[in-house]
Amino acid sequence: MSQVRVRFAPSPTGGLHIGGVRTAIFNYLYAKKMGGTFILRIEDTDQARFVAGAESYIKETLSWCNINPEEGPDIGGDYGPYRQSERKTIYMDYTQQLIDEGKAYYAFDTPDEIDQMREKLKRAGVLNLNYNSASRKTMTNSLTLSKDEVNEKLEAGVPYVVRFKMPDKREIRFYDMVRGWVLVHSSTLDDKVILKSDGLATYHLANVIDDYLMKITHVIRGEEWLPSAPLHVLLYEAFNWESNMPDYAHLPLIMKPDGKGKLSKRAADKGGFPIFPLNWTDPSSGEIFQGFREMGFSSNAVVNFLSLLGWNPGGDQEIFDLKGLIKNFSIERIGKSGTNFDFEKAKWFNQYYLKTIKFESLAQVVIKDLYDEYSIECSPQLGKQIVELFVQRVTFPREFASVSQFIFHKPQLYDQKVINKKWNEKSKNALNVYANKLDVLTEITGDEARELFQRTMASIQINPGKVLQLLRVSITGEGSGPDLMKIIEILGPFEISKRIRNATEQFDHIKTSLL
Ligand code: GLU
Repeated sequence: MSQVRVRFAPSPTGGLHIGGVRTAIFNYLYAKKMGGTFILRIEDTDQARFVAGAESYIKETLSWCNINPEEGPDIGGDYGPYRQSERKTIYMDYTQQLIDEGKAYYAFDTPDEIDQMREKLKRAGVLNLNYNSASRKTMTNSLTLSKDEVNEKLEAGVPYVVRFKMPDKREIRFYDMVRGWVLVHSSTLDDKVILKSDGLATYHLANVIDDYLMKITHVIRGEEWLPSAPLHVLLYEAFNWESNMPDYAHLPLIMKPDGKGKLSKRAADKGGFPIFPLNWTDPSSGEIFQGFREMGFSSNAVVNFLSLLGWNPGGDQEIFDLKGLIKNFSIERIGKSGTNFDFEKAKWFNQYYLKTIKFESLAQVVIKDLYDEYSIECSPQLGKQIVELFVQRVTFPREFASVSQFIFHKPQLYDQKVINKKWNEKSKNALNVYANKLDVLTEITGDEARELFQRTMASIQINPGKVLQLLRVSITGEGSGPDLMKIIEILGPFEISKRIRNATEQFDHIKTSLL
């Protein structure tokens, strides 16, 4: 088998959606798995939909995900240029070849004339309103005009497009690695425009020519391109390139979280989750859409999560780093049916990967956020302790600063439910005795704090379980939270006993007010 070459071929028509990122990842994984080459090709033939900044956004996304192309615009390679707008003449030459061979033709019809044709067909009860093997006979094109008439129009500069002459009564069969054999009848297809009036190729023509010239061996792309594949197959035939046709793999659709319909920007907005990998600013409206990165996702989590959208590694393992993904990836294990986008699962992955980030770097984030958002100065040591304390309990780095507020301020509010249930003369005494014990110390480790607590409770013959939650409420205000003994270590005996006394003074009052 020839050297595997795959391409990610986005159109720079806006921010790359998360679904596009999945396509890029699958291409990358397949290339790396097979020891092949991963190529980036920018498909910018549609000038009307071109959006400035979209190309650099795509590149930044790939680089953030660590899936770096080996060939592409700005990188170079033996098959460039890799931006279709720079390959205009190539497409023109190949179009001419198809025209000369009678496989494509000039069409001079105006949009109005095409509308009229459709109206006429509709009135006659025809269901298929396409510009196709039947209707083309009634239109102004090089199949109905004489050679001289065509040349006259061309010389006079009458605007035209070039259409592919869809073969009549043909069954088109091709093998899709995900779906198996796909069979389409040519009567369902129209004479697609392959060269527009601006002289630029359309997606179909440019895509096929480039895949051929760039020696692409596998086309891995979203299901939305499946309907285009029969035309692509016919174009390969028209150029006599059948033996170089790539293998196709159309990836399953990514559905909304409830499985009802395709994942869209609207659905993402509604669900309160991003659809873009990085922040995207819509250049026309100036609106900023938050990206996964800016929301606090690590790229490892995003890549891992997206890889499992449609690909099933088999077995129970869900956590895969890039190396593991490459090792395990196979097209055979990609499913046909739509896959639901589960944002909670994405968060679950992020929570996992958060723990794998160096605590020192997370501490940097904590220190900065505390300063920026709360004007709190936090030492690197305390920053790291905060990370250790909360890393099991948060999903995003930005949460550390808010959840750690009780480290810096004594509680303003106390969990009333716990007080109501557990506060009585005995527990009051127990907390005060513990505070007395702490008063004589200058520092204490978490283990020592635990041991002291247990010893103290034993000495006054009270079950520690009856007091522990109250102790937590007196220190943090809340009935649950991270390792309490660690909190005592971080805050130190002086602050803790102060908090206990301060709290116990209020608990009597809080309890009576609840009665
Ligand atoms: N330019 C197409 C896109 O934007 C590429 C489709 C393909 O991979 O063939 O997705």
